[in-house]
Amino acid sequence: MSRFFSEKFDSLMPYTPGEQPKDKKYIKLNTNESPFPPSPETLAAAEAELKRLQLYPDPDCSELGRAYADLIGVKAEQVMITNGSDEVLNLAFLAYADEEAPLIMPDITYGFYTSVAEYNRVSYEEIPLKDDFTIDISDYVEANKTIVIPNPNAPTGIALELEDIEKILASNPDNMVIIDEAYVDFGAESAVSLIDKYENLLVSQTFSKSRSMAGARLGVAIANENVIQDLNTLRYACNPYNVNRVTAALGVAAIKTNSYYENNCRIIAENREYTADRLREMGFQVIPSKSNFLLAKSDRISGEELYRRLKYEKGILIRHFNKERIKEYNRITIGTREDMDAFLKAVEEVLV
Ligand code: PMP
Repeated sequence: MSRFFSEKFDSLMPYTPGEQPKDKKYIKLNTNESPFPPSPETLAAAEAELKRLQLYPDPDCSELGRAYADLIGVKAEQVMITNGSDEVLNLAFLAYADEEAPLIMPDITYGFYTSVAEYNRVSYEEIPLKDDFTIDISDYVEANKTIVIPNPNAPTGIALELEDIEKILASNPDNMVIIDEAYVDFGAESAVSLIDKYENLLVSQTFSKSRSMAGARLGVAIANENVIQDLNTLRYACNPYNVNRVTAALGVAAIKTNSYYENNCRIIAENREYTADRLREMGFQVIPSKSNFLLAKSDRISGEELYRRLKYEKGILIRHFNKERIKEYNRITIGTREDMDAFLKAVEEVLV
C-alpha cells in the first residue's frame, strides 16, 4: 500500500477471485464457467462489430436491452445492461444501503457481497444459514433492511421457492430486496415474474454462466422503471460506457441463439445429477444443487487436502473456501461429461 492510499480503505478486504493459473493446462472446475464455447453466431457477431471500434458504444445498450426484455417478458424500461452482474450489485448496494441503513445477507454466500459493501461504505449483517445450509425465511420476513440473496445461493447451490421470495418481498415493502440470479438458468425459478407486483424487487442476471460469456462481462438488472432509473443515475455518474460495443453485439447474437444455450444448461444439469450420484456412491455428502456446481465433502479426506491433491497430482482445479462452516467442503463446477468422468476417476484414485 502506498502512503497516499486513503485511510478509509485501511480495513477493506478485497474479493479473491478463483484461480486462473497459467503454469499448465488444468481441467478447470473452479470458477463456475461454462465448459461450452459461445454459439458460432455469437462469435460471428463479435467479429463484425470489431470494424466499428472507433465509435463509442450506445451507453444504454438499447438493442440488447430490448432483446433481453422481450426474451424474459418485461418492458425495455425495466432492464439495464451492465458490465457483468457484479456491476448491478455494486450499484444496488450503493443506491439502497449505507452506514445507517444496513444490508443483510446469508453468512455463507457470494464473497463479493461483503467486499463491495465495504468498498461502498455500506454496513452489513451476515445471517447464519440453518445447519443444512438452507435459508431460514423467517430471518428475512419483516427484516426492514435491504436484503441480498442469491437464488440459487452460492456456493451451496440451494434454491428458494418463489413463494418464499414473495413472502420476503411482501413483508419488507419499504426496503429493496435484491435477488441475484447468476445461476437461475440451471434449475431454479426466476423472480422476474414478480417485477410488476413488487416495486422493491431488483433481480440481477448474467451472461457469464448459462450463456458462456464470463470473459465478455455482461450482466442485467431487472426491476420496475423507477429502480432502473436510480441505477442509471449512478451508472451515468461513474461509467456511462460500461459495456463495450463488441460485448453488446455478442449479447444480441446470444439471445438470437438462445436455444443453443438452453440446451447447454440442460446438459450441465444432467451432468450435475450424474456427478452428485457418483460422489454419493463414494460416500460424499453432496448438497442438493440447482446450479452449475456442487458443494461436497467426504469424511475420508479434508476439504483442503482433496483440493490440493486434485490440483497438484491430477491437474484438476476445484474451489476450496477457508471459511469455517464450509472448510471441509469443496465447490465443484460442472463441466462436460468427459470432465466429470476425469474428475470422478481422480477422486477415486485420491481416496484409495
Ligand atoms: N453472483 C454470484 C452468486 C456469482 O457467483 C457471480 C460470479 N462470480 C456473480 C454474481 C457475478 O457474475 P458476473 O459479474 O460474471 O456476472
